Order: sequence, then C-alpha cells, then structure tokens
Amino acid sequence: MPLVDDFGREVTGIRVSLTDRCNFDCVYCHNEGLGDTRGPADPQDEEMTADEVVRLLEVVAEFGVEAVKFTGGEPMLRKDLEAIINRVPDGMAASLTTNGTFLPGRATELAEAGLSRVNVSQDALEPEAFARLTQSGAYDRVLEGVEAAVEAGLDPVKLNMVVFEPTAGYVPEMVDHVAEHDSLQLQLIEYMPEIAGHPEWAIDIDRVHDWLEDRADRIEQRDMHDRRRYYVSPEDSTGEGMVEIVDPVGNTDFCANCQRVRVTHDGQFKGCLNRGDDHRSTGDMSRTEIREAFRETVAKRVPYYGEYLVEEDGEWVRNEEYFETEQLPADD
Ligand code: SAM
Repeated sequence: MPLVDDFGREVTGIRVSLTDRCNFDCVYCHNEGLGDTRGPADPQDEEMTADEVVRLLEVVAEFGVEAVKFTGGEPMLRKDLEAIINRVPDGMAASLTTNGTFLPGRATELAEAGLSRVNVSQDALEPEAFARLTQSGAYDRVLEGVEAAVEAGLDPVKLNMVVFEPTAGYVPEMVDHVAEHDSLQLQLIEYMPEIAGHPEWAIDIDRVHDWLEDRADRIEQRDMHDRRRYYVSPEDSTGEGMVEIVDPVGNTDFCANCQRVRVTHDGQFKGCLNRGDDHRSTGDMSRTEIREAFRETVAKRVPYYGEYLVEEDGEWVRNEEYFETEQLPADD
C-alpha cells in the first residue's frame, strides 16, 4: 500500500537523479532543484553507486512505489544506466529523461534492459536556437537520439520543451512537428523560475492553453495534476499528435495532486522539487533506516503552492507555520 501524506497524497512515484554532471548547460536549467549543473566531468565520488540506487528502489517498492523516472544532470553520462534499469524491481515501471545525445547506440540496450518510456528535451527545431538554449552544438545528435529511441521501440517518445520567452515563438512548429510524427508526443513545460531565477523569462502559460484550444481537434482532461491533453492533426494530411502542458507554477491543483518523492544524485530523499529544506540523507544507512527516512520524508511532505507558500495580496509568501521547519543541511 502506498504511503499517504497529511494532505491525502499517495506517493506512487520516485524521481531519481543519477548525477548532476551534464554535457549541456541549458540556460533555464533547475537541475532538479539543486541549482546549476556541473560541466562534463568524470564520475563524482558523491554519486550513488548502482547498488545504492537499487537498494533505494527495493525499499520504496515495499511501500507501493510503482514508477521510477531517472534524471540528472544527464543520466546517460552514467555508463551503468542499463545495468541499473535491468535491476529495477519487478512491477516498477522505469522511464528516463535525457537530452538524447547518448541515445544513438544505446537506445536498444536500454529498451532491452526494461526501459518503458523516454522523454527527450528538445526546445526548438532550429539548430541556432537550440545551440543558444542548451549552450551546445549537439542538435543533429539529439534528432538522431530521438530516432534511435523510436527505432528501439520506445515510442511514443515524449519531447520536453520548456516554454519561456526565448522559446515561446517555436511552440507552433513543435506542435506541427508532433502532429506530423505519430511516434512523437510533446510536453510543453512551463518555465519554473523558483530555482533557475530570471522570473522575467516566464510567460503567461494560459496564452498557450488558449492557443492550443483553438489548434486542437479534441481535448482530454486527465486527473493527474489536473493536466489537459490536446490532440492535433497536421495541416495538410491525416494523423494525430498529442500535446500536454505541464504548468506547475502557482498551481495549487498541481501540487495537491503531486505523487512523487525525489532522490538527489548523492542519495538524499527530497519531498519537493522547489524546496531545499526537506532533504533526508540515506548515505550509509541500513535498509531499516532508509525505510524510516522514506516514511519521514512522506510524512513531512506539504503541497508547495497553497500550503508551504500561500497567496497574500497577489504574492506567494512562505506560510508562517513552516518558519519553524527544521533546516536540514543539504549534505546532512
Ligand atoms: N538532462 C536531462 C534532460 O535534458 O532532460 C534530464 C535533466 S533535466 C533537469 C529534466 C527536465 O527538467 C527537462 O525536461 C527540462 O526540460 C526540465 N527543466 C529544467 N529546468 C527547468 C525549468 N527552469 N523550468 C521548467 N522545466 C525545466
């Protein structure tokens, strides 16, 4: 049975960062709540070993966690990713978020290891814009990666596009792109300035909803996070593409439906992407201690928007109730 927090939210998923190294340096990156990523480098001592990752997954599986998403940094910088996926507990679905550059040559092995789905970050369909956003020159390689994933049977591949000032103009062509390719879906992710900074880059995501409402042939409402799915057809042929908007910023419904706990690359449970004061280390712990740390992480989870932050005169301010929250040092 899944653990349930004080706000009635079951925890059924876990998002595990396998490294905070990355071969890109995306201008918008929140690095899963840890701030800037480190540049390309050799494996770091503090990264969880494959055994530690598997042990954590086995423990949370006991509590009904049924899905794991591997992320980073760039999780495919881990040479042992296939081996880790191979050891994901039975009954737990494994998915991956990647920048796609290492998928050529590895996608088939990942699928064979048991990967069920992959999200590839792709913020533009134009090499120059892509290079500016990711501070990399790997555009062609990413397209090859998407193709490799599709060929390996990991379709539909979800493209993740962060929507903010520098990319908003590319939304229509990305939507056309997935409408024209059955094997692709698009996830438009509202830019989250909470950790990445630059609030001036944010755009009004309702404008994107309105535009898609006009563009879509049909719309489906999903319970999870109150998300809507827009189905779009190509302008001049048949077929159908799916576009979803992920809009967590200031969205109390989104937080009220959050079913995920996170794990940092150095093995700390983290109850909320946006918080730095809720980490719980699992480093040298026994399984019993990890179970306890997980229980405590879930017990202390609170919805970020609507509870940890409350709205006062149109501003989000920290709820006084949590001023007393024990401040856990990140490397505790
Ligand atoms: N390197 C991998 C990748 O490129 O997908 C995984 C890590 S990346 C931090 C995971 C996801 O977070 C990406 O899909 C990216 O689009 C999203 N992301 C990063 N910073 C963001 C921000 N400030 N606002 C919204 N989404 C963001």
